[in-house]
Amino acid sequence: MKNLSNVRENLNPINNNTYATRFSSPLPEQQELLKNLEKSIAESTEFFIGYPLNLNFNYTPLIPFFQYLINNLGDPWESGYWYIQDKNIEQQCISWLAELYHLEAEWGYVTSCGTEGNIYGMFLGRELLPDAILYSSKDTHYSIAKAACMLKIPHVVINSQPNGEIDYEHLKQEISKRTNHSVILNLNLGTTMRGAVDRIEPTVDILEKLKIPFYIHCDGALGGMLLPFMETAPKISFQDYPIGSIAVSGHKFFGSPIPYGIVLTRKIYTDKIKHQIEYIGCNDTTITGSRSGLACLFLWYAIMTRGQQFAGEVSTCLENARYLYKRLEEIGYKPFLNDFSTTVVFDKPSIKICQKWQLATQGSLAHIVVMQHLSKMKIDLFIDDLLA
Ligand SMILES: *Cc1c(COP(=O)(O)O)cnc(C)c1O
Repeated sequence: MKNLSNVRENLNPINNNTYATRFSSPLPEQQELLKNLEKSIAESTEFFIGYPLNLNFNYTPLIPFFQYLINNLGDPWESGYWYIQDKNIEQQCISWLAELYHLEAEWGYVTSCGTEGNIYGMFLGRELLPDAILYSSKDTHYSIAKAACMLKIPHVVINSQPNGEIDYEHLKQEISKRTNHSVILNLNLGTTMRGAVDRIEPTVDILEKLKIPFYIHCDGALGGMLLPFMETAPKISFQDYPIGSIAVSGHKFFGSPIPYGIVLTRKIYTDKIKHQIEYIGCNDTTITGSRSGLACLFLWYAIMTRGQQFAGEVSTCLENARYLYKRLEEIGYKPFLNDFSTTVVFDKPSIKICQKWQLATQGSLAHIVVMQHLSKMKIDLFIDDLLA
């Protein structure tokens, strides 16, 4: 003990209080490193158009909260033994999303990312239907296969149509081969590469006709926040359809300096799998233990300050996606743009351009996801680069 306190004294020579932590300033070379890192991230942000992340945000009014740990440990609807949390804010966010998806008697929480929401959806499906087989399309995000692997759920991959949407006929065939097993179905409300939307209605039709118990999880990482704001888009409605859960990423449409996500489900489902934990004084219903209360604040702030503008943001992104499509078509890059999507797919350009603009590629294709920070002016800059 003596040695340890000596070390502390040496690290903090001005500090006389051995109990309170003292902070020393970074050394000059460490400050240099931080400065360079900030510069490089700022520059990379300028040319970041390849992934579905909204970089247009301002949460600086929340800076005072950086002084505290806000940890929403355990179930968001139970307060437990500690008060350094903002679960009331988290509940408001979950309720807002529940209303958006016509979900009454909701349960959900703010996750660490979209992937955790998908893992939660798969977990819940498996707990409710332990004999189930998981079906998802070829174009599904890799987090679903990872969840199947972690949870040891048998997984059947269904063909996709050329636009990236699930092949309903193939889905029906594959399920029909295994009618003695329940079904967990992952539907993509916007696939990662092509932004294709798997339709809820025809798949529910297939499942109900086959009379097999099923659980549907919707992966709405980005599209979960696009579809509700497009008038003609397929509805995401827990009231109209027997869907079980939906996962959305927080750092995608909402935008955030830290990654997070949201998962939403029916309360009756989670009530079946709760475990009371004496140590924290509430139920352990989430995948991770400690959870970011700061993420909840970012989400709440986005909803409160921009909620009324979300429809406008979506329509601007759509308009800019069509503009990008038109400009790429003019110069022979053979673009493709799905309905209800802001993801423009086109012929992969040179490596140099892919690196500068941080484009995601797949085989001979690249894509740009038109988010709130991508203006027509920047699209023109990108096109100029392609022509140069
Ligand atoms: C981005 C994405 C995910 C994963 O989201 P993270 O927040 O990065 O974990 C899942 N599904 C789809 C369709 C995505 O585009």
